[in-house]
Amino acid sequence: MIPFCKPTVTELESRYMLQAATDRICGDGPFTKKATELLKEKLKLETMLLTTSCTHALELAAMLCELQPGDEVILPSFTFASTANAFMLSKANLRLCDISEDTLNANSRHMNDLVTERTKVLAPIDYAGVSCEIDEIKAIANKHNLLIVQDSAQSVGSSYKGRAIGADADFACFSFHETKNYVMGEGGAIAIKDINLLDKCEILREKGTDRSRLFRGEVDKYSWQSIGSSYLPSDILAAMLCGQLERFEEIKQKRLSIFSYYFNSFEELEKAGKLRRPVIPSYCEHNAHIFYILLDSEEQRDNLLSFLRTKGVGAVFHYVPLHLSKVGREIGYQPGDLPVTESAASRLLRLPLFYDLTESELEHIVASVNAFF
Ligand SMILES: *Cc1c(COP(=O)(O)O)cnc(C)c1O
Repeated sequence: MIPFCKPTVTELESRYMLQAATDRICGDGPFTKKATELLKEKLKLETMLLTTSCTHALELAAMLCELQPGDEVILPSFTFASTANAFMLSKANLRLCDISEDTLNANSRHMNDLVTERTKVLAPIDYAGVSCEIDEIKAIANKHNLLIVQDSAQSVGSSYKGRAIGADADFACFSFHETKNYVMGEGGAIAIKDINLLDKCEILREKGTDRSRLFRGEVDKYSWQSIGSSYLPSDILAAMLCGQLERFEEIKQKRLSIFSYYFNSFEELEKAGKLRRPVIPSYCEHNAHIFYILLDSEEQRDNLLSFLRTKGVGAVFHYVPLHLSKVGREIGYQPGDLPVTESAASRLLRLPLFYDLTESELEHIVASVNAFF
């Protein structure tokens, strides 16, 4: 069976992890420092903190938005639960928007339509590593004085009109979960635009204490400053991320070449109207996080999934749209509310895409899809 995804871990990551294990295993050690510096350099962002996950980075962002009960957050329904959870924990109300047919990212016109007096935050995602329409979203935020929390879990290594992903958001959140392009098992990062919020974020992340200031020698003891939690990863995990980030370009290029192989291989099937390939807008440089195809119907998608399984190909699909999930129903949504999301979610299929995917495996996957048609 060709798995859907498999992290690439080399001798480099193993060596770093072993070093961390014998050196210093708690958070904010030398590898965390090094990984954070590498991240700032690779992602071209100035203020970053490593976290235990993107989910936790989103929670930190939601806390820094200082939401009041009843405040509204607009986010796409076509996303992972974490985007929504963060704001629910802050007692905000969710307004789910539809997506654009081309990129499957939040439709900024629909976002704009959902803005009310209570709206405080716009929370787009960068689906498949393709940036959201951040210029349009920023225009809405500026007009209505809203904050932007960009769920950039999938877009590490991408860019938008030559600009860094997350540079236009108040907060951008990244993931290093094992299914993402660069991995540390479980892990993430938060980028903060307003440097004045860094202190506050550090305290929230360090159990509500100013321990980060102690580390920098700014105070000689540390104590409880505010509400907070523990969002810093072990240095062992940061060590793994260091290795991954040193292989940044190598990993990206390999993924892009696999993406291109699929993309070119399915040109004929697209021309024949059998499927649709991902659309990468010219303004976006992507990181080949996901290769998906869109089929004609849910039935055809499910048939292809089963067929591929018999061929030993671990294809998968996602997402169950948030508005059709148990929580989505509880907050008042129903089928038919977000038609583009519902259509895409029912017809989308993701093919295996990981660093160690071999040429013969790729050929087999493409041949299997062709055989189906
Ligand atoms: C993967 C993912 C997350 C969650 O990331 P974790 O690091 O596993 O918490 C959140 N949002 C999106 C869009 C994702 O793809």
